[in-house]
Amino acid sequence: MKKLFLIIGAPGSGKTTDAQLIAERNPDKVVHYSTGDLLRAEVASGSELGQTIKSYIDNGNLVPLEIVIDTIKKAIEEADREVVLIDGFPRSVEQMEALDQMLKNSGDIQLLGVIEVVVSDETAKERVLGRGRGADDREEVFYNRMKVFKEPLPAIEQFYTAQNKLIKVDGERTIEEIVADIEKIIKEKAQI
Ligand code: AMP
Repeated sequence: MKKLFLIIGAPGSGKTTDAQLIAERNPDKVVHYSTGDLLRAEVASGSELGQTIKSYIDNGNLVPLEIVIDTIKKAIEEADREVVLIDGFPRSVEQMEALDQMLKNSGDIQLLGVIEVVVSDETAKERVLGRGRGADDREEVFYNRMKVFKEPLPAIEQFYTAQNKLIKVDGERTIEEIVADIEKIIKEKAQI
């Protein structure tokens, strides 16, 4: 049985860095996948699919549902450790519903928690515009990414709150504090 945790948060919330550090600290038990990194890796491969993905990422829009679900499915299938962390997913109600269906159809994956790393708009903006990762870190694209992030958030929060799975974490502290907090939650819930 794979124990799944989702880590969501605004662009610049630090979700990928946090999840990566937790996986690095628990290499025997935890594996981490960043949805954004997986999609960017497909772009970097130079494939036709990558070209399609790039057009969405560069404008700060969501990559189409089937592509994202395929990406997530593959990640979960190839995960060879007890605890699987996926950050940057779900980012829409349809993704959330597709995952829910996937979980219902699979006896092998258990969703144990959805951790939301919460930061203010100002912090998100400062961090994203300061890092210069690529075309999607320009100011106008940042505003679109924030809009795309926020629009489905209330529905996503409500859905996982009703399942008693949503945990909000204050992402405005030091990385050390945030990571310690998330790691504790994961270890307790996964009993590792
Ligand atoms: P991130 O690295 O999480 O900031 O994601 C960068 C970009 O990758 C986003 O702006 C989207 O274009 C794309 N992306 C990442 N995660 C998803 C997702 N769950 N659904 C659709 N697109 C995504």
